[in-house]
Amino acid sequence: MKHIMIIDDSPTIRMSVEYALSGLGFSMHHAENGSDGLEEVKNIKGTGVDVALCIVDINMPVMDGITFIGEFRKTDRFTPVLVLTTEAEELKIKEGRVAGASGWILKPFRKQDMLNVVQKLIRC
Ligand SMILES: [Mg+2]
Repeated sequence: MKHIMIIDDSPTIRMSVEYALSGLGFSMHHAENGSDGLEEVKNIKGTGVDVALCIVDINMPVMDGITFIGEFRKTDRFTPVLVLTTEAEELKIKEGRVAGASGWILKPFRKQDMLNVVQKLIRC
């Protein structure tokens, strides 16, 4: 089973991502900021399984998405990281790419767009 990490401070967004991907049979893990996301990734990897994909918001309290990507990339260079962004944050896309993001999707997203980008990133 593939494990996916969903990191966003909005529970509504986390649930909508989970809903969009529910047909793929993944195990979904939630975190509400970058710091909790790093902790949860460490917990998952500690049980001997790999995280197939991280989906991360930009604007979050405690640790934002760009910082999360930078920290995550210190120990994991290859797992895809998909950035959830809003129109207002479009300048952040470049920052995200520099930090090591693999792709991005605009919020609000359509279910099919989320499915397409995830399937492209993890080839499922
Ligand atoms: Mg946010």
